[in-house]
Amino acid sequence: MKFHVLTLFPEIPRAFFESSIMAKAVQKGIIAYDLVNIRDFALDKHKTCDDSPYGGGAGMLMMTKPLASALDSVKPRKKRVIYVTPSGKKFTQNLAYELSRESDLVIICGRYEGIDQRIIDSYVDDEISIGDYVLSSGEAAATVIIDAVYRLIDGVIKSESLEEESFSDGLLEYPQYTRPEEFLDQKVPEVLLSGHHEKIRVWRLKQRLAKTMRMRPDLIAKARESGKITKEAEKMIEEITRIGEQ
Ligand code: SAM
Repeated sequence: MKFHVLTLFPEIPRAFFESSIMAKAVQKGIIAYDLVNIRDFALDKHKTCDDSPYGGGAGMLMMTKPLASALDSVKPRKKRVIYVTPSGKKFTQNLAYELSRESDLVIICGRYEGIDQRIIDSYVDDEISIGDYVLSSGEAAATVIIDAVYRLIDGVIKSESLEEESFSDGLLEYPQYTRPEEFLDQKVPEVLLSGHHEKIRVWRLKQRLAKTMRMRPDLIAKARESGKITKEAEKMIEEITRIGEQ
């Protein structure tokens, strides 16, 4: 998979590509990246990349021509192009899985008040938001998307690590513990020390359900709609609800 990031501030995503697990994935050749500095396509000696919006209003927009030339430079053109924007569809784990199956992703990082609508209409396949808030630029949003996507690609991390993660089957993750057995006056739940795999599985499922019901009841409804709540889980939900009502 190759990420092509179009940005006015390549140093921001570069730090991510050069660190930790991502750096290893790049070294192994699983991930490649190309940081395209939009300013390199500016037309004047001042390297101007912003312009005022038609119709007036506060702030500037990204200038059309440098951005279009930067997009044209990312050849061949048959690549999925994403514009990160607060007015896009919400980024989710499902979308991360879908994007992880692409061979190339082109991501446009906006700045100022955003980009010209004609660039969106001519080049962009997906407008994606990382949440209902406004950042000052798109580099952090692009990095969030890249991070969620690349770790799903075969060979980056162990597939077992992905299996019971939050959202993997519509639920949040169970609580986790490491050494020491007693810490801050709290003990690790007895069952996790038992070595009894079936009891641990049941405990973890119940914890996942209880946490999801408490923090994200909307996810329980969605998981039910898509048939992901098993009979065993339904029984546990009844039990958790009964205990909560007592
Ligand atoms: N005028 C825009 C609006 O009201 O929707 C906000 C522009 S914002 C200050 C500048 C850039 O940051 C955007 O073009 C986009 O690339 C990025 N950005 C800001 N918030 C974002 C979010 N929640 N998700 C994805 N990208 C975001």
